[in-house]
Amino acid sequence: MRFEVIKKGSHRKERAAILTLPRGPVETPVFMPVGTLGMVKTLTPHEVKDLGYHLILSNTYHLYLRPGLDVLKAFGGLHNLNRWDRNILTDSGGYQVFSLSKLTKILKEGVLLRSHIDGSKHLFTPQKVLEIQGIIGSEIMMPIDVCTAPKVTVEEAISAHDHTLQWAGESKVYFEEHLGQTGSTLFAITQGNFYFDVRKMSIESLVEMNFKGYAIGGVSVGEEKTLTREIIDFSTDYLPEEKPRYLMGVGKPSDLIRGVEMGIDMFDSVYPTRVARNATVFTRNGSLILRNQSNQLSSMPIEEACSCYTCKTFSRAYLRHLFKTGELLGLKLATLHNLHFIKVLMDDIRKAILEDRYGSFVKEMAPLLD
Ligand SMILES: [Zn+2]
Repeated sequence: MRFEVIKKGSHRKERAAILTLPRGPVETPVFMPVGTLGMVKTLTPHEVKDLGYHLILSNTYHLYLRPGLDVLKAFGGLHNLNRWDRNILTDSGGYQVFSLSKLTKILKEGVLLRSHIDGSKHLFTPQKVLEIQGIIGSEIMMPIDVCTAPKVTVEEAISAHDHTLQWAGESKVYFEEHLGQTGSTLFAITQGNFYFDVRKMSIESLVEMNFKGYAIGGVSVGEEKTLTREIIDFSTDYLPEEKPRYLMGVGKPSDLIRGVEMGIDMFDSVYPTRVARNATVFTRNGSLILRNQSNQLSSMPIEEACSCYTCKTFSRAYLRHLFKTGELLGLKLATLHNLHFIKVLMDDIRKAILEDRYGSFVKEMAPLLD
């Protein structure tokens, strides 16, 4: 992996870079669509490529349970199974440990997880999590970490940080020994809850260990938005300039625009695709709910200026009809639009950075901001 910053803007901490991965270069700032179980829900790999995406996210925990390692091994990895020939980043399952916390137990050696499908027990050690990602064959891998909820005590935040740090070290040793020659890259995940000094400690310790990229984990987990932004802004002040910075689980248009301003290079979130499947689509004037009565007779596309297949072809009235009747096509058409919208937004963000006019760009995007 190579990461080359090609332009730093003068507005705040925004930057444009090229992230070179084994299956082709990725221009940053970048948004990664999420294909938890292998591919973005409702779309074919061909459609995701056509939208212009070069890097998607998939999930270690979910793929480990289904289809399982036997299938992934038999196919020589996920790329051969899902037929996506561009780059994949795999999450470690640390977030699932948090979101399925009733089913998990944090131990010294790793996380004991009870399957949300059949209740079976699985021990996720740092080594095991990387072994799975090796079998998946992702281009960017993440170590197992401990994510905490807002308002935990400082002692709990420190304990989570200690596990995360210890496991990051073990992950690095395993990665270098077993996966170092594969062309894949291991990032680190910084934690620390909403305690600034614990965040700083986490970042400084992990930076010292010299990972190739750094993620900010454990934000956007139910806390106040102002606090999320303070933590991100604080974190990027301590993260190395020359390495990619990845904000995990964030993907609302406003958060992408603000995240870039704070020096973030990579984002992922189920948000654009999940809301699309609930009939909410993005426009430059804010979100539009396709189910609304006001769209019943509308011959307009979602957005006049949008060049996506959905907007070039269909009216709001037809899309509303598809959602009202539960037709599967509605899910696909709304997903196509939202991912096209986000890709164009990221392209515009990058262009504004390259032309060093990010400050005025943010002002133009006012209807999207919160
Ligand atoms: Zn569109």
